[in-house]
Amino acid sequence: ERKQLHRLRREPARTLDGIDIKLYANAESRDDVAEAHALGSAGIGLYRTEFLFLQRNEVPDEDEQFRAYRDVVLGMTGRTVTIRTLDLGADKADRTGLVMGDEPNPALGVRGVRLSLSHAGLFETQLRAIVRASGYGPVRILVPMVSCREEIMVVRKLLKRVIRELGNSGHEIAEHIPLGAMIEVPAAAIALPGFIGAIDFLSVGTNDLVQYLLAVDRNNDALSELYSPLHPAVMRLLHNVIRTAHMRGKPVAVCGEMAGDALFTPLLLALGLSEFSLHPTTLLEVRKAVRECNLVELRKRSGALLRARDREAIERWMQANTAA
Ligand code: PEP
Ligand code: MG
Repeated sequence: ERKQLHRLRREPARTLDGIDIKLYANAESRDDVAEAHALGSAGIGLYRTEFLFLQRNEVPDEDEQFRAYRDVVLGMTGRTVTIRTLDLGADKADRTGLVMGDEPNPALGVRGVRLSLSHAGLFETQLRAIVRASGYGPVRILVPMVSCREEIMVVRKLLKRVIRELGNSGHEIAEHIPLGAMIEVPAAAIALPGFIGAIDFLSVGTNDLVQYLLAVDRNNDALSELYSPLHPAVMRLLHNVIRTAHMRGKPVAVCGEMAGDALFTPLLLALGLSEFSLHPTTLLEVRKAVRECNLVELRKRSGALLRARDREAIERWMQANTAA
């Protein structure tokens, strides 16, 4: 079994009917990046920058961040690297004093882009470090916890200024740095047609999207039964988001845990997904699952999936559509 998977390191993530699916990697450490590269991922679809800020007392300065991001870009030798801006909040322990420690409801509080926009200097420093790293290979910027168009517009304006300033001061930077939004707040998913014109790509964070859509705390063990993407509302919303993105010609990936679970591969393909971002440890299993799928057949069965009325019906669909 392991050996068989190992052989897939150099094989494409191509369906039985010949469609290439992009498998990007989620990464936060040097080892993740090395493994993502060795296993032939399409690039880094989600580079979590939080770890640079955790377990320490001061915020990393521009140069330290720049070196970290540059090393990821160099490590991927020309494949795209998607760097997510800071996604800290009271749900993630931090000692830098950035995060409000006593929020009554951390998941609904000052986290992600909200925290970044409330610390303008800090955010600008991170954007400068990322933009500088873009001189070493293709980089995209991904913004977490976006809930409305205004947030994107503010980030875009800031990014424009940072790019202009760095260019003027003689830094070698990429001509184009795509700006994307995490789709993980239901409002952003529902209102997507209204602001998709303001972004270059999107990445669906199903870990949070499921939490907020179902009103189920992703960290509450007492609710782990309910915390599942196998809900008709999740199916419909994912389908809509993917369809909207494709109609507007914008790349869309799923980067939540469900993308890395091979059991969900046929389901996500049926919903129209063609880009996944997952932890490198699951990359070969999902590549194997993709290679056992017939995309045209799965797409034909998406209607039945979208009509499923409950979890059991979705599970039945999955059982009927798993490659043996
Ligand atoms: C997500 O919410 O699905 C996601 C990928 O981000 P995180 O797990 O870091 O919140
Ligand atoms: Mg998230």
